[in-house]
Amino acid sequence: MSSAVHTDPGLRNIRVMVVGAGTMGGQIAMTAALAGFPTILQDISAEGLTAAEHDLARWAKGRVGKQKLREEDASAALGRIEYAGDLSAAARADVVIEAATERLEIKRDIFAELGRICPPHTILVTNSSTLGSSKIAGESGRPDKVCNMHFFNPALVMKCVEVVRNDATSQQTVEAVMALARAFGKEPVLINREVPGFIANRLMGAVQREALALAEAGVASREDIDSTARTALGHPLGPFELMDMVGLDVIHFIAECTYAETGDTADKPNAAVAALVEQGRLGRKTGAGFYEYARAAAG
Ligand code: NAD
Repeated sequence: MSSAVHTDPGLRNIRVMVVGAGTMGGQIAMTAALAGFPTILQDISAEGLTAAEHDLARWAKGRVGKQKLREEDASAALGRIEYAGDLSAAARADVVIEAATERLEIKRDIFAELGRICPPHTILVTNSSTLGSSKIAGESGRPDKVCNMHFFNPALVMKCVEVVRNDATSQQTVEAVMALARAFGKEPVLINREVPGFIANRLMGAVQREALALAEAGVASREDIDSTARTALGHPLGPFELMDMVGLDVIHFIAECTYAETGDTADKPNAAVAALVEQGRLGRKTGAGFYEYARAAAG
């Protein structure tokens, strides 16, 4: 059990701000704080901020209880997080990680405001899974300092961070964001141009497409397809199990975005997934998706 505080001298005195304290933002802020960065977590929702603060304290307590984190490191990290209700705190940030609701207009407004508030050197990244940063970089007035920094859920656990440059992103920005991800204890990968789904969601989409096609053609049951992915390919979850875990609404939304962008019929949203979403069977979170879950698993 050791402290994860980073030792990169180039990142000394860096203050991180995370915009949006939902599923991703809270855990990204805690990741930064555990790495030793003073961190501001901002959300327009006061309830959202309170819930994030509560969740992070509970997470830290759990880790300490399991002896995965020293109590002093947990309380030091929690103490590095400052909670803010508006964006004005961005005037003190060196890097802003935007993890707000996945809507283009919201992100455009945030980047425009950040462009006005932040000092000129501040790097602005988006955690968006489906929106390439080129769609919002112009609003900031500093497109060379903008890229995607895509974390995975749960951000405190998952090692991968996809750093996606757009045509205007400078090499200096790319290097700074890669270094920051490493300082967070992550294993970043660099994606040289914006492609829908980046790497991970693209790979996952291909497996899911094949799994859905095999099941629909009656070649094998969902259970046997999932079992094959686990026992032959070493995947921790089969594709149907994984879709249920991610949420079928999220899977459907990603497919819609990808198809809108590529127009490729291979990317067309799947009818079976769409039907389940229509029925409110969104996966584990609603207690049913491709599979049924015990009530406790739904909460
Ligand atoms: P979420 O709905 O859990 O949280 C979004 C938060 O943004 C909410 O708390 C909301 O109040 C806040 N918000 C909305 N407008 C805001 C504004 N103008 N200023 C500040 N805060 C604002 O969403 P999430 O799942 O955490 O997703 C956030 C981002 O992360 C999205 O871009 C998504 O694509 C990306 N992402 C999500 C996942 C995932 O599995 N959930 C994984 C990787 C990336």
